[in-house]
Amino acid sequence: MNIEKTEQICPVAGKCGGCQLQGVFYHAQLEKKRALVADCVHGVKVQPVLGMADPMHYRNKVHAAFGRDKKGRVISGVYAGGTHRIVPVEHCMIEDPRADEIIATIRDLVKDFKIKTYDEDTGYGLLRHVMVRTASVTGEIMVVLVLSSPILPAKNHFLKALRAAHPHITTVVLNVNDRHTSMVLGDRNIVLYGKGYIEDELCGNRYRISPNSFYQINSVQTKRLYETAIAYAGLTGNETVLDAYCGIGTIGMTAAAQAAQVIGVELNPSAVKDAIVNARRNQCKNITFYNEDAGDFMRLMAAAPPSERVKVDVVFMDPPRSGSKETFMDAVAALAPRRVVYVSCDPHTLGRDVEYMKKIGYQPTRCQPVDMFPYTDDIETVVLLERTGQNNETKRKSGIVQSGDSRYQKKLRDTRTAPGSRRTKTSQQRQGKRAH
Ligand code: SAH
Repeated sequence: MNIEKTEQICPVAGKCGGCQLQGVFYHAQLEKKRALVADCVHGVKVQPVLGMADPMHYRNKVHAAFGRDKKGRVISGVYAGGTHRIVPVEHCMIEDPRADEIIATIRDLVKDFKIKTYDEDTGYGLLRHVMVRTASVTGEIMVVLVLSSPILPAKNHFLKALRAAHPHITTVVLNVNDRHTSMVLGDRNIVLYGKGYIEDELCGNRYRISPNSFYQINSVQTKRLYETAIAYAGLTGNETVLDAYCGIGTIGMTAAAQAAQVIGVELNPSAVKDAIVNARRNQCKNITFYNEDAGDFMRLMAAAPPSERVKVDVVFMDPPRSGSKETFMDAVAALAPRRVVYVSCDPHTLGRDVEYMKKIGYQPTRCQPVDMFPYTDDIETVVLLERTGQNNETKRKSGIVQSGDSRYQKKLRDTRTAPGSRRTKTSQQRQGKRAH
């Protein structure tokens, strides 16, 4: 394909590598992405990509790694691919400019307060990263200082100076990451100012978002993504819906108004806690959350004795970039929902999984890419898969635990977390591995 080039080139585009489609006209970016999805997903017509009217400054979550240049000056930005070398970034055309301004102030404060920046190679130093999250509707702003230790010297003066420069910051959190790891955030958060989370509104609901919870990074396009997913689900108000990989419960809560009941399942305990609070706050009484591996959970559901088995009509699945697993999809087939709405951020794993779904009795019937990540290679896609008939082969293969197995009852009892209940079994402390 002959890609048209524009003049608009970010000064660090070549070094940063974050925007692979720098210099490509936006309409050509959308066409390139549609072609990519069509290459990966077969057997269904791929709709033109839903693009943005203004495809700039859309990122509501910004990470900056902190370090020093050869002359010892404080710098912040992104790691050059596969290295610990920081490419300084001062202004980014896809990030929320408020986040860039806050990060610039922190660079100055680090210098003034003589805070040591962390060295990834030696493991010496204090400040590793800064993450800023902005809420597009409420305007709330969260700053997360990722430090190698829980102690920030001259903390109160630092906070005072930061808030004086940016009075719109609503919360500041110190996140402790003392491990030698490429993960940005550690597990421990200490609230330095405000609530320790931000709240935002999306599709008529209000959500609490904690530092470690996943939240879609492009709020404008998330609305369109969810609207597409819910339209594909064809809800009438009578359905039982499963929201697998539910994060803080956003898809499930958006669907809940049009369904009889929704069950959300998510591995990250921090996200499940947010989801429970969010359900209460939105007075969403027909949703229940489980803190479990989605595949394990569905296998247990499918193995329930017939008298107790919940009939699932629609499954939403929104897995991380690595896609789903055959065991998960076998468990979907065992539950035999009429419709599966697959939301994916990677067309390659989506294509692989759609092929598998075809083998186990589901046919893709609609496919809508949504551009959540302008100027990058990434593309989000919603695929509707509809059940074509009973497939006994799947049931035999899926290794489902026997119905009546006492493990089923015990496990569901242990893990159930509903709006009215605070019990959350945090068996696996794991963060969402999604790259965004
Ligand atoms: N649907 C949500 C979250 C999507 S991101 C939204 O739109 O915001 C994918 C989510 O899958 C993350 O929250 C991650 O923690 C969760 N996840 C990853 N592996 C999982 C697994 N094996 N079982 C359940 N959830 C998992």
